[in-house]
Amino acid sequence: MEAAAAVALRLAAAQTASMTREIGQSQWLADVEGEPSTVASLERDLTVDVAVLGGGFVGLWTAINLKELEPQLRVAILERNRCGSGASGLNGGFVMSWWPKIASLARLCGKDDALWLADETTRSVTTLGDYLAGREIDAQYRQSGWLWTATTPAHVGVWNSVVETARRLGREGIFESVSAAEIARRTGSAIHLAGIREPINATVHPGMLGRGLARAAARAGVEIYEDTPVHGLERSRPARIRTPRATVTAQRVVVATNAWAASFPELKRMFVCVGSAIVSTPAIPDRLAAIGWTGGESISDSQTTVTYYRTTRDGRIIFGKGGGRLYYTGEENVEEASQQIEDAFRISASAPEERELILEVVS
Ligand SMILES: Cc1cc2nc3c(=O)[nH]c(=O)nc-3n(C[C@H](O)[C@H](O)[C@H](O)COP(=O)(O)OP(=O)(O)OC[C@H]3O[C@@H](n4cnc5c(N)ncnc54)[C@H](O)[C@@H]3O)c2cc1C
Repeated sequence: MEAAAAVALRLAAAQTASMTREIGQSQWLADVEGEPSTVASLERDLTVDVAVLGGGFVGLWTAINLKELEPQLRVAILERNRCGSGASGLNGGFVMSWWPKIASLARLCGKDDALWLADETTRSVTTLGDYLAGREIDAQYRQSGWLWTATTPAHVGVWNSVVETARRLGREGIFESVSAAEIARRTGSAIHLAGIREPINATVHPGMLGRGLARAAARAGVEIYEDTPVHGLERSRPARIRTPRATVTAQRVVVATNAWAASFPELKRMFVCVGSAIVSTPAIPDRLAAIGWTGGESISDSQTTVTYYRTTRDGRIIFGKGGGRLYYTGEENVEEASQQIEDAFRISASAPEERELILEVVS
């Protein structure tokens, strides 16, 4: 299982690195590396109401919400590394509603539940911003909208069924059409032929968000133990959780270990590891200003293995491609995947000045 989880997550870590950095380092996590850990590893036995295994976004939000709902609960997070160091610290930082999936959701769970999911996820984008502002957590949250674009004629209008379903469900204003000229004005790139915009979507710095949530959880009274890998879970009542130097006894256990949950035999068959890669350019704010890509929009194209890109506060371009290779054996080829994402990055350039920009920044 360890190997299986590592496929998805170590690959992401490697790919998140700027091409000028050593492969294996995440730019997002390097940005927050200097922040000292305020928590310790678990050294002695503990008895809690709820033990949360894994300190990614799922574990952190679960613990925070539990404490908000029932402040008297004793809640502990057991994290094998540092909070936010898994996929939560390695991703594109797109904060999105589920509206782009509305047509599939309506097919899967009916229109009422689909509408509820889309509305709730829409609300959560703004709620996240309010939560961070209210607690003075700087995670570079920026609500500048998301562009869904076509970069080839065959993709123009692939979003029509989504827009139409939203309209039929009574949500007229979720998406707005944007012309190629408007997208070029916003992004400095003529590669996009058409698109739609969902204005509520946001971006964050995933590394800063993870650290910020860990601080918020600690302030809320959650006990956080980092460098504390869970080695065994005894399915007793209460449950007993084995870590290297101590045992945790818990009335309830939340498994928030993402792909690593495949170590549970009953879950193992539900996991397929898919490579997902991100590269980051160095900070090039002057270049971005020169081409006009300063509005903070995030952008995805319409390929099956979607290409997505955004900028950061310090003027980097983050460029990713989802749904890469499937890994059945647990043996990822980081070098190969790295080359693939770099190639995709270069191919996405359209205007001569953009080609020049990209060649300069990734070489
Ligand atoms: C390259 C990439 C790009 C992505 N882009 C986006 C995006 O733009 N927007 C978006 O919404 N989502 C994106 N995602 C998905 C998103 O990152 C994940 O859905 C999310 O981070 C999952 O959070 P999590 O808490 O479930 O998992 P994780 O963050 O992986 O947390 C699991 C934690 O469990 C810990 N753990 C594992 N095993 C043990 C153990 N035995 N004992 C103790 N701790 C353990 C790990 O160290 C880890 O910290 C992306 C993912 C990748 C890989």
